[in-house]
Amino acid sequence: MNQVRVRYAPSPTGFAHIGNIRTAMYDWLLRKHFGGSFILRIEDTDQARLVPGALEEIMESLRWLGMQWDEGPEVGGPHEPYFQSQRLDLYKEAASKLIKNGSAYYCFCTPDRLAEMRKNQEAEKKPTGYDRKCYLLSKEEINQNIENGVPYVIRFKVPDSGTTVFTDAVRGEITFENKLLDDFVILKSDGYPTYHFASVIDDHYMEITHVIRGEEWISSTPKHMLLYESMGWNPPVWVHPPLILGTDKSKLSKRHGAVRFLDYRDKGFLPEAMINFVALLGWSPGDDQELFTIDELINRFDISGIVNHPAVFDVSKLEWMNGVCIRNSEPDRIIDLCIPFLKDAGLISDALNDNENQYVRTVIALVKEKLKTLAQVVDHTEFFFKNELKYDEKGVKKWLSKDYVPALISNVIKHLNDVIGFTAENVEEAVRIAGDELNISGGQVIHPIRMAVTGRTVGPGLFETMAVLGKERVIVRLKNTMNETADIIAD
Ligand code: GLU
Repeated sequence: MNQVRVRYAPSPTGFAHIGNIRTAMYDWLLRKHFGGSFILRIEDTDQARLVPGALEEIMESLRWLGMQWDEGPEVGGPHEPYFQSQRLDLYKEAASKLIKNGSAYYCFCTPDRLAEMRKNQEAEKKPTGYDRKCYLLSKEEINQNIENGVPYVIRFKVPDSGTTVFTDAVRGEITFENKLLDDFVILKSDGYPTYHFASVIDDHYMEITHVIRGEEWISSTPKHMLLYESMGWNPPVWVHPPLILGTDKSKLSKRHGAVRFLDYRDKGFLPEAMINFVALLGWSPGDDQELFTIDELINRFDISGIVNHPAVFDVSKLEWMNGVCIRNSEPDRIIDLCIPFLKDAGLISDALNDNENQYVRTVIALVKEKLKTLAQVVDHTEFFFKNELKYDEKGVKKWLSKDYVPALISNVIKHLNDVIGFTAENVEEAVRIAGDELNISGGQVIHPIRMAVTGRTVGPGLFETMAVLGKERVIVRLKNTMNETADIIAD
């Protein structure tokens, strides 16, 4: 294969979402697998729809995933500029070439006339499309209009008959009837190219070998093929990965979760989990392996693995993968990533002293294995930071309302007070002795004490939790709970 040159060509008209990122990821994986260049090209020709901040967010998403582009904004490259709005002369020149060779023509029709034409076509139940009024203008009429400054667009003259055929690497040969295609605009009256035109011109000059883009672009491809043909250029390999649907089989939308790709980062997903998950939305390794490191993906990724049926976005699968990645990750990294979530939730202060910092790190390490997202650290550790517990209602009914509980707690307090070296083993021994003395054992001891110390029915190992909390906190909580349970039992 020649040097792979792939491009991710976002329009900065909104925030990057999963579909955009999947396209970029397949470009990047292909480039990493075969070598070559991954190009970031900004398709900013629809000036009215540009959204401030969108480009920064797109670049931030790629950087967060570690998908650095080889050419494009900020890094430059041999085909600068990488913003279409800065390449207008190139498109004008190409459009003139098409006018000269008879493949394109000036159109002076006003928006009002076009609306009227469309209305009539609809009323007569005819296919809508440009009626080629301006195709019939004489050279003199055209020159006159241009001289008079009449605004114009440039349209591509689609052949009246025949078919346009192309091969999609995922679906095989696809055929379109030319008569169903409209004479589409290639250059708008503001001098900007349309998407179709700019994309073809740039893909050619940037020497793109594979165009990877979502299935929704298949219907644009015959237009692009016609443009390549009339310019006398060879088209790239077309690759259209499938649609991404929600678990309810409808097109992925807001209802299915985050719209902004970076929301996943903000909710505490790890980049390697996102890469693993998104790569599998439309690509299959050919066996049932589901967990991949980034290097494994790079090794195994190939266009032949892109599937020809819709991909299903299942957030519970993403959470599972993220949990695996959190567990496989170095504790210190996860701890560092979790701390901002605790700060944002107001559970810890911005400036921690050494002791507090050590405590926070130990607490996070204790729950790390249980996290599916980093954001869950807040819920899992809240009780470590607040002595006023939120008691789980069912747990209160089931474990704290028993008659024996006040005596148990008070005996546990007594034995814990005597513990020197508040380690998990020493705590366990003290708690067991306290229970044995009252002839209470096993779950009858563990569950009420867990409720008393954490307010919860589940959590990390009880004795480890108590050891981390430390003697002082544990005893304060046991006493608080005793007062509460006295009320509960009195009720
Ligand atoms: N600018 C188009 C988009 O926003 C790119 C489509 C293509 O890759 O050709 O999706």
